[in-house]
Amino acid sequence: MDLLYASTRNAQEKVTASQAILKGLAGEGGLFVPTQIPALDVSIDELAKMSYQETAYEVMKLFLTDFTEEELKNCINSAYDSKFDIEEIAPLVKADGAYYLELFHGSTIAFKDMALSILPYLLTTSAKKNQVKNEIVILTATSGDTGKAALAGFADVEGTKIIVFYPKNGVSPIQEKQMVTQKGENTLVVGINGNFDQAQSGVKKMFSDAALAEVMNQADFQFSSANSINIGRLVPQIVYYVYAYAKMYANGEIGKDEKINVVVPTGNFGNILAAFYAKNMGVPIAKLICASNENKVLYDFFSTGTYDKNREFILTSSPSMDILISSNLERLIYRIAGNSAEKNAEFMNALTTDGKYEITAEMKEQLSDFYGNFSSEAETAEIIKKIYENTGYVIDTHTAVAAGVYRKYQADTKDTETKTVIASTASPFKFTRSVMEAIDSKYAAMTDFDLVDELSKLANVAVPQAIEEIRSAPVLHDTVCEVDEMESVVRKFLNIQ
Ligand SMILES: *Cc1c(COP(=O)(O)O)cnc(C)c1O
Repeated sequence: MDLLYASTRNAQEKVTASQAILKGLAGEGGLFVPTQIPALDVSIDELAKMSYQETAYEVMKLFLTDFTEEELKNCINSAYDSKFDIEEIAPLVKADGAYYLELFHGSTIAFKDMALSILPYLLTTSAKKNQVKNEIVILTATSGDTGKAALAGFADVEGTKIIVFYPKNGVSPIQEKQMVTQKGENTLVVGINGNFDQAQSGVKKMFSDAALAEVMNQADFQFSSANSINIGRLVPQIVYYVYAYAKMYANGEIGKDEKINVVVPTGNFGNILAAFYAKNMGVPIAKLICASNENKVLYDFFSTGTYDKNREFILTSSPSMDILISSNLERLIYRIAGNSAEKNAEFMNALTTDGKYEITAEMKEQLSDFYGNFSSEAETAEIIKKIYENTGYVIDTHTAVAAGVYRKYQADTKDTETKTVIASTASPFKFTRSVMEAIDSKYAAMTDFDLVDELSKLANVAVPQAIEEIRSAPVLHDTVCEVDEMESVVRKFLNIQ
């Protein structure tokens, strides 16, 4: 029997994995969730011997049950190949009392590559399985990293087009350069005069617009999503938590069944939700430590039980986490509301109308797996400098938010014994200016690309290919629009009325 996916907002809507991947978003703005979390069916001793690709198969086959073994293995082997600059795909680096799980060795040097290098294969396989004739239009809102990773994954993929909206003034210079230099006939990159939440809401609105869907269908198009609301993003992200645990065990860092903590720098709540799913599959994880930057809506939620987005949107040095509406939290809310679409929809409606909701005491009790905290801008900069000075290891601003929160967690709970994995979500080369200025203010005067070379010397790490590529690449996308013009930009690109 296939594992089905249910909508978080409508108990009647249940689909297979391939259908959920194709649709991206469920009806009424709901998200698809697996009706149960499958348990790993291989032992840790077996996992310890496996490559990343083999581990990926063991995890993903349990979620994507309507894919054949051959289909899934093809997807996995096409995704996790020499696009990654290291054979392990996701290496663990021990530094400063923690294990950094480097998730940035893919083609766009952020952790989004872990899922977006496989999503195009999952999606085109799903389209074939379901006899879809329409061209798939990937519509994506990005806080900086998803956009480039999705563009890289979908560029020139037959039967697809990809449109990316990013906040014009809300991404790092390198992030923007990476996106606007994107090649591929089927790509469109658009800056909006607004923030990430507005980009995301605009995209969600187009997804749930039935009239637009009809016009699209007439023109042989249909939307899908590369955002982490797509289950095809979430499932591949579970893999590296299983892999990291197995590697720690294989390397003798932990004993059998020994629990570890996981710290995740969080924005849209996708990455940490994947860790939560890994725990529910049987990976011995003690605490899931949710790290926020100054947009600390999640920290406040874990401390008070009230999710309240009515606050100032702060632009920080970790822009990929500048988010006030963490979409994937809905999947957790649905679960702790007893898998009730009805109750979940009430909370989500309150979020839309009042900008906030409060969960019940009974629901809050189920959040004991999580610990939330945040790092200020000053704390983030300080920890980059400290870790560099203590160990020579240079981390990016997002990872630094997590490292800072891990210190607060240790001070708060006195849990200094549990081995802890910190998800390292971006290469420092992607946020070079913030990283270098954190290390020494003298770097403020240098240009972005001079800073890249300086970082390479300082960290003793070669400049990644992704950065070399954009040094002299021409700008190919210069569209900028207002938030309320997003739909007309899409219509124009697709040539529909
Ligand atoms: C997207 C992103 C995050 C946040 O991940 P979520 O899954 O949205 O919580 C953190 N760090 C970096 C570098 C990112 O690109």
